[in-house]
Amino acid sequence: MILENKTALITGASRGIGRAIALAFAKEGANLAVIYSGAEQAAQEVCSQAKAFGVQANAYRCDVSDFDASKETVQAVHKAFGRIDILVNNAGITRDGLVYTMKEADFDAVLDVNLKGAFHMIKHCYPIFVKQRSGKIINLSSVSGLMGNGGQANYSASKAGLIGLTKSVARELAGRGICCNAIAPGFIDTEMTAKISMDENQLAAMIPLKRMGKPEEVANLALFLAGAGSDYITGEVIRIDGGLAM
Ligand code: NDP
Repeated sequence: MILENKTALITGASRGIGRAIALAFAKEGANLAVIYSGAEQAAQEVCSQAKAFGVQANAYRCDVSDFDASKETVQAVHKAFGRIDILVNNAGITRDGLVYTMKEADFDAVLDVNLKGAFHMIKHCYPIFVKQRSGKIINLSSVSGLMGNGGQANYSASKAGLIGLTKSVARELAGRGICCNAIAPGFIDTEMTAKISMDENQLAAMIPLKRMGKPEEVANLALFLAGAGSDYITGEVIRIDGGLAM
């Protein structure tokens, strides 16, 4: 199994892409720290499903935009599992609107969760990875961070920021055997995209492969980036978008 005896901390693992990543990792032998912000029952269900693969899985409520709460959570996970090998910064939110009407609070909220949340988790896992002289960090960016998207200035800025964060952390930690990469999904079928006011046919028409992606497809890529098969890849941004942003 690709991730046997590894421990993965995955933020936003209660649903959508994070849930799919959690279950794909568990199937490959990883013990899980399932981080969620509000959906406790969903997070507990992910843990139960993961445990059916014979791994350990604990759920932790943590708002990743809170520096101290993120620190306490990383410490609690480290204490419970004895190590952290993989960090997946997947928690994310949208507060879409045109810049003209966008409230400052909506800009800040998106940056705080999507970008600062990842910084918090990386910062608190940093000493653990350095001490272990190993670690895999995977940040969920977006094609919006590569291309920009009208009506999503806050979200696109946060996702572009994650790319800068990824490359800087990759450079900073490469000498310690720690890899940091980003995934840039296009339209993936989750609750987040269910909010988009466009029907599925309109969406499919924009995508060269003519369909939305599945959370499990993103999870397969995350699994590759978490495993030893990607040990010589760092600072990379991999699109998984059906060709949308090529
Ligand atoms: P969902 O909206 O389905 O799930 C979001 C997850 O993030 C939930 O588990 C939620 O927890 C968690 N979360 C939200 N806010 C916080 C917070 N403050 N602290 C901790 N956890 C939080 O999103 P997706 O699965 O669609 O997206 C996952 C990631 O992939 C996001 O970063 C998103 O930007 C990115 N992405 C998604 C795309 C898509 O098409 N779906 C495309 C490109 C990128 P809870 O359930 O407890 O609320």
